[in-house]
Amino acid sequence: MPKKETDKYWDPVLETLPPKKMKDLQFKKFKRIVEWAYLHSKLYRRLYDDAGFKPEDLQRWEDISRVPIVQKEDYRQAQAKDPWPYGDSLCVPLDDVTEYHQTSGTTGQPVYQPDTWQDWEWWAETWAYILWAQGFRKSDRVFIPFGYNVAMASWASHYACEKVGCEVVPGGILNTEERLLKIKELKANAIMATPSYIIKMAETCKKKLNIDPRELNIKKILCAGEPGANIPLTKKRMEDAWNTKVYDNAMATEVGGWGFECTSQPGGLHVNEAFFLVELVDIDTGDPIEELHIPGKIVITTFDRYAQPCIRFDTKDISMWGKPCECGRTFRILKGGVHGRADHITKIKGVLFNPLSVEEVVRSTPELADEYLLEVKEEDAAEVLILKVEKRPEVSLSREALEHNLARQLRLKTNLAFRIEFEEYGTLLRPEVKVQRFKDLRLKKVRG
Ligand SMILES: [Zn+2]
Repeated sequence: MPKKETDKYWDPVLETLPPKKMKDLQFKKFKRIVEWAYLHSKLYRRLYDDAGFKPEDLQRWEDISRVPIVQKEDYRQAQAKDPWPYGDSLCVPLDDVTEYHQTSGTTGQPVYQPDTWQDWEWWAETWAYILWAQGFRKSDRVFIPFGYNVAMASWASHYACEKVGCEVVPGGILNTEERLLKIKELKANAIMATPSYIIKMAETCKKKLNIDPRELNIKKILCAGEPGANIPLTKKRMEDAWNTKVYDNAMATEVGGWGFECTSQPGGLHVNEAFFLVELVDIDTGDPIEELHIPGKIVITTFDRYAQPCIRFDTKDISMWGKPCECGRTFRILKGGVHGRADHITKIKGVLFNPLSVEEVVRSTPELADEYLLEVKEEDAAEVLILKVEKRPEVSLSREALEHNLARQLRLKTNLAFRIEFEEYGTLLRPEVKVQRFKDLRLKKVRG
């Protein structure tokens, strides 16, 4: 039956499945992909044999936590073997691969990502859940302001838009001003981009084109690729600048688009549990966490993607379970979305520190521009935290007063002292894609 614009769910059965039935479905799918990987992937067979695990050991739900966790580094090592470029991680004949992508490489050598045509249709289908939940419909004209290349996100969102029936405008090649003018000319009513670029576009629109972004009548913005849309004050800055709704999402090249915010904006992400098993595990012990509001590391299994399976993948991201959403979907909620990376959470002067907490303070200070840079380094054997910010030119408050307020707020939030340095307005980098605002320059990094 064709979908109607007013339909609430992309799949009304799966999105409202009672939790017990969902668990049964997940366990069946989990077993199936583990058996597939053990049979077809030398990487997984090696990993499981080394740990003394066999697929037939999976008898009940609790056995899932016995399955060895796979790391990004395992893919890298498997891909260093023949046949090039996917080596031991490929589960299908090389000729069946139709899509090549790769991870961004921000944490080392990129992981190559093969997909078959069936896998690629799976991408569009899983992303369609995201788009539908955020109100994307046939009547929308969606602008994607990036040049697509070997990265996954723009391609996946593009094809999903087509599947849902939206009209898609690929905005590659153009610079930021030209993209904004194209949005205006075509009356595009939705944008997909990283939070950094959404902020940069709004600034460029005001400063270079002398146009208030609110006049462009953007109805919704889909954000992905980095934190921002899950930080309430950053989200508010974006929503105010464009006078629109901004929706957070979570995806990874190796995993898929696994988490999304719905139009009810419950303060977190729905996990698409029909296609992914998301587990939270204790950062140190690896024990499963089922209780609400306890931070844990996100471990994900992708059920229905076959060329390079992703089974109990260590995302190194942190989150916590939250209360059910009022939209009616039974897909569970990760409160606050992805809180940051486990390997960025570190001890400074003996205090556990999450760099994202600084973003909340910067965004809640209206005198500051949106960009900032955070560094931790050693000076005379002592650890120093340095926050580089820009004061907005129209602000009359003195730097000293601003510095004082900021230092106080940061101390309250993090229990740490910061050195605050002011950069000239507009000189901190305004990046388009994934941005690394925290630099740990200490010789010996300390894990939390
Ligand atoms: Zn919801």
